[in-house]
Amino acid sequence: MKRTKIVATLGPSCSEADVLGEMAQAGMDVARINVSHGTPAQHERLALLVREVERQLGRPLGLMLDTRGPEVRVGELPEPIPLSPGEEVVLGKGGIPVTYQDLWRDVPVGAQVLLSGGEIALRVEAKEAGALRCRVERGGTLQPRKRVSVPGVRLHLPPLPPEDRQSLNLARELEFEFVALSFVQSPQDLAEARKLTDGSWLIAKVETAAAVRRLAEVIQAADGAMVARGDLGVEIDLYQVPLVQRRLVDLCNAQAKPVVVATQMLTSMVYSPVPTRAEVADVAAAVWDGADGVMLSEESAVGNFPVQAVAALAGACRAAESGEVEIRVPGLVRELVGEVPAAIAHAACTLAQEVRAKAIVCATVSGWTARLVAAFRPRVPVLAATPDPHTHRRLTLVWGVVPWLIEPQDQLEDLIQQATEGAREAGVVSEGERVVVTCGLPFYQPGTTNLLRVMAA
Ligand code: PEP
Repeated sequence: MKRTKIVATLGPSCSEADVLGEMAQAGMDVARINVSHGTPAQHERLALLVREVERQLGRPLGLMLDTRGPEVRVGELPEPIPLSPGEEVVLGKGGIPVTYQDLWRDVPVGAQVLLSGGEIALRVEAKEAGALRCRVERGGTLQPRKRVSVPGVRLHLPPLPPEDRQSLNLARELEFEFVALSFVQSPQDLAEARKLTDGSWLIAKVETAAAVRRLAEVIQAADGAMVARGDLGVEIDLYQVPLVQRRLVDLCNAQAKPVVVATQMLTSMVYSPVPTRAEVADVAAAVWDGADGVMLSEESAVGNFPVQAVAALAGACRAAESGEVEIRVPGLVRELVGEVPAAIAHAACTLAQEVRAKAIVCATVSGWTARLVAAFRPRVPVLAATPDPHTHRRLTLVWGVVPWLIEPQDQLEDLIQQATEGAREAGVVSEGERVVVTCGLPFYQPGTTNLLRVMAA
């Protein structure tokens, strides 16, 4: 059983039900719709398709909407533009079009402007009304709609442009489980987005120098995080990216908040049916770091092998999870230690080990106890039996948790019985095998976990 969750970005390569179904069978847990690409109608169609595939699959699939955020892109170009080192170019009015008209106001002379994920580098030499006059430092062929980054420079763009506000309506209507916020710079950006979402977990995409500077505060304000290594490697020194990955994973693990390691995990699989050895090693390192999830971007959205890419990611995760190498467990933050749910979760893990239980079964409303148990990275599966359909789908992003929907129950014994039956039906344990069960009284109130029991499934 794979324990690390897989987020796969949807796109033209997987926009039909059969491919999506195969990706889910291969191990996709969460489908990500990146609204920087495609139209609102396409986003809606994809989301409905995921819900349809989920019905056929009989296992929950999470939906993640990924916002544009305050991004700047090159505008439409009649044709790609070759740029040679030393050449002078104009960015903005009268030159290469950009989607942010005030770019020239925000960017100082001497700043570096990176295009296309840093492949092309320009240096600003002069400003004129509406444009930046630049010198090409690193050349390349510029394609339309490519990202424009200005490392270290604060652009005065709203955190959620009007297009994102429209996309968030879709997230509310179709009850997306997760909204990933691009280019978050401060905790206030998350507070702003929370007003426009309705119960979706807010995932802070860490990809700006400002967010890295305020990492702890940003994570505190979010429900989870993503190391968005693509843009992060442009916005900060590329070689610092693995260090930020480590720090971010630790911070999230310590608060039992889900964290996803993203971008270029299996890039070669855009064109190849097998990953490189280095890619497999990167996935394993993310698992050992403590990632809840790993993500595919182009590999699944526009690649030639979307199903094979999910299968390869699942294979790499399974091998890393075999137990030969310990997964890092940084320990919970001080605010959680000593609280009853965290203490029960810790006790459940040590108890399961001592009595050789085959699973930990959490009867949970909000999913919080299952998340706390998973934060200790127990060797045995964690089955989260919940009567809440939202919790059921949200736990698709939490490491090691098998979400299981149960009927609401009034009696403790019935609740425990349903939960343990769930563990058998889900294939997590066989009849008669020992399980550790957690639940709480009074029922159906989040945060009341206070019971621990050992029993036979
Ligand atoms: C990234 O930059 O790594 C990322 C995940 O964001 P996007 O795919 O939206 O560019």
